[in-house]
Amino acid sequence: MYDRFNRRINYLRISVTDRCNLRCRYCMPAEGIKLISHEEILSYDEITDFTRVAVNMGIDKVRLTGGEPLVRKDLPVLVEMLAGLKGIKDLSMTTNGTLLGKYAQQLARAGLGRVNVSIDSMDPFKFTWLTRGGRLDDTLEGIDAAIENGLTPVKLNCVVKESKDEPDARMVTSFAEKKGLEVRYIRQMDLGRGEFGVVEGGDGGNCARCNRLRLTSDGKVKPCLFSELEYDIGKPGAEQAIIMALKNKPACGTVNRRGYFYNIGG
Ligand code: SAM
Ligand code: SF4
Repeated sequence: MYDRFNRRINYLRISVTDRCNLRCRYCMPAEGIKLISHEEILSYDEITDFTRVAVNMGIDKVRLTGGEPLVRKDLPVLVEMLAGLKGIKDLSMTTNGTLLGKYAQQLARAGLGRVNVSIDSMDPFKFTWLTRGGRLDDTLEGIDAAIENGLTPVKLNCVVKESKDEPDARMVTSFAEKKGLEVRYIRQMDLGRGEFGVVEGGDGGNCARCNRLRLTSDGKVKPCLFSELEYDIGKPGAEQAIIMALKNKPACGTVNRRGYFYNIGG
C-alpha cells in the first residue's frame, strides 16, 4: 500500500503494552505515569485480527514493541498467532532484554525471527542510573540467550545524546564488535519539542523514506510518531483506520505533545 506521497508502507510496529520494568530517563518519568487500563488494552485476538487486515493490505514487516513487550503475560502466545499469518516476511521485537534470558527459547519456538535489544552503556552503574534500577547483567544475559536461540541478527539499539562518538556509545560499539552484532545509534528525541534525528545504522527518522504505521496497545493506528493523529480501530474497523492513517500520514513529523515513547513504542 502507498500513502499520498507515494511512499510504500509495509512496516507495522505494534505496541503490546505501555508498561515497563525499567524507567529509562529519556523515555519515562520516574513516577506519576497514567497507564492504560487493562480493559482498554487490545487482546491477542484483536491484535492478530488487526494485523491480518494490515498484512492483506500490504504490510510484510512487523515489530513488537512497548513499553517492554516481555512484561505482557504470555507474549510467546501472541508471537505464535502472528507467526501463523501468511505474508509476514520479518517478525521481530524491540526489547530491553532483561527478560530474554527467560523467554528467548519460547519466543524462537513460537516463530519470532529476531530481536533488537536496547543498551546504552556498558558501565553497570551508569546503566542502572540511566534505566533507574535496571541491571546490566540481565540485559547481557538476554543478548546471549537471543544469540543462542537464533533470534538473529541481534541488533543493539543505543540511544545517544549527539553521536556515536560519546564514551558510552563507544563502549557499546566495541562490545558489539566483539560479539559480531550491529548497532543502531538513535539520537535522543523529544516528541513534545519535535526534536528528532536520523537513526545511524537504521531507517528511522528519514521522513521521505518512511514506511511505517504504528498500532498502540489501546487500539489506535498512528501514521507518524511525531504527530498527534491517530485512528481508532474499534469504530470504523481496522481497514478504515488504516486507510485514514495512509490518507493523512504527514510528509514529515512535527510535534506530538500527547504521546510518549513508552506508550507508542518508539
Ligand atoms: N522497552 C523496549 C526497549 O527499550 O527496547 C521497547 C520499547 S522502547 C520505547 C523502543 C525504543 O525507543 C528503544 O530502543 C528506546 O531506546 C527508544 N527510545 C525511548 N525513548 C527515546 C527517546 N526519547 N529518544 C530516542 N529513542 C528513545
Ligand atoms: Fe522501558 Fe524501553 Fe522506555 Fe526504557 S526505553 S523505559 S526499557 S520502554
